[in-house]
Amino acid sequence: MSRLRDEAAPVAVVGAGLGGLAAAIGLLKQGFRVQVFEQAEAFGEVGAGISLSPNASKILAAWGLGDALAAMASIPRTGNILNGITGEVIQSQPLGEVLEQLFGSPYYQVLRPDLHALLVGEVRRLAPEAFHLDHRLVDIEGPDEAPVLVFANGARQAASLVIAADGSRSVVRAKRFVDEPARFTGHIAFRGVLPMEGLPERYREPRSVVWLGERRQLVHYPLNHGRALNVVAFVSDVDWDREGWHERAELSELTAQFAGFCDEATEIFGHFAGHELFKWALYDREPVDEWVRGRLVLLGDAAHPMLPYLGQGAAMAIEDAWVLAGVLGQHDEPADALADYQARRVARARWVLLESREAGRRFHEPGQDETRFSGDAAMRTRELFAPGPASLLG
Ligand SMILES: Cc1cc2nc3c(=O)[nH]c(=O)nc-3n(C[C@H](O)[C@H](O)[C@H](O)COP(=O)(O)OP(=O)(O)OC[C@H]3O[C@@H](n4cnc5c(N)ncnc54)[C@H](O)[C@@H]3O)c2cc1C
Repeated sequence: MSRLRDEAAPVAVVGAGLGGLAAAIGLLKQGFRVQVFEQAEAFGEVGAGISLSPNASKILAAWGLGDALAAMASIPRTGNILNGITGEVIQSQPLGEVLEQLFGSPYYQVLRPDLHALLVGEVRRLAPEAFHLDHRLVDIEGPDEAPVLVFANGARQAASLVIAADGSRSVVRAKRFVDEPARFTGHIAFRGVLPMEGLPERYREPRSVVWLGERRQLVHYPLNHGRALNVVAFVSDVDWDREGWHERAELSELTAQFAGFCDEATEIFGHFAGHELFKWALYDREPVDEWVRGRLVLLGDAAHPMLPYLGQGAAMAIEDAWVLAGVLGQHDEPADALADYQARRVARARWVLLESREAGRRFHEPGQDETRFSGDAAMRTRELFAPGPASLLG
């Protein structure tokens, strides 16, 4: 029986992104008292798509959220990689049922606000008073073993455990771990979501499509059971470095970046007229091995911000949350549980972070052919998607 449950102060989760919410759900389900502190005044994830691979969807199902997730998500039946310049198909892979059979849970694609709202609803159901919005953490007082959170609004909160889920620019990380800025990778992502109505029929097909060309990658897939299309376009070797989901982009800028891509690939850009288009500079970090100090623990992007080329950032945060909740439930001594968490998570997160960086390099290299995507890709997919609730804690 964890000693944490007997301590007067609650567990404090800093950040109500996908990672913080997952951590709150995991700990609440283990019977811990949890308070969640979020800097935003109101919840409102950006309207973008996100892929949830089986390693993550299995965990959400284990928390009893499988049916709700299935009701809101799309499942791509195939994944196509095409040469963006020539239009040639480089690779076509079955996803849908094949992945579900291989890995025991679907590969989903979902609107971030829908997923976020599902997790917020679950936290509220488990602990109606858990959320403290408009609480921006600015400092931590006291020793690592007895931290007191200090917020910009003047509030203070002693915590038996602080779960730092405050993203790639984590204040907890900077104050108590390493104060080193995340590294701008030279990659940016343009993104937008289009209503399916009015788009040509081919976009409706349950297919995840990736167009590749030197320095550039265009991805689109349907969301919301085909009611919307998620479009993300990655470009590397760029010197614009502002991070934030709300940076507006000009359509002309996107079109110019993809000059030389075939008409079939770039046709989708024409449909953005009158719709919002955003851009986001992509940061990552060198992996770190220290995620725990006293009663402070890093989770999600605060621990391992990674490039999105394997679609694993949120999945890793959900895995972190599952493991953290699990080990806290298993060990009497919080220090033993936290050491166990770090031991179980660091190597996997390091591997995925480095693989994500490598995938970005491979996708953006000149000259695309099938050999680049066969080789060890199947093995990588197995290592990414196979872990699940039992094996992550086994
Ligand atoms: C273009 C793009 C596409 C992606 N696609 C995928 C994908 O398909 N699949 C996937 O798994 N991952 C994907 N990712 C990665 C994924 O979005 C992140 O890894 C994930 O959102 C990290 O969650 P988090 O909760 O750790 O951090 P965040 O989502 O950054 O949440 C941090 C939260 O903490 C709050 N906060 C920050 N500072 C403070 C403070 N001082 N005080 C209080 N609150 C604070 C923030 O407001 C926010 O709510 C993608 C990322 C990008 C950029």
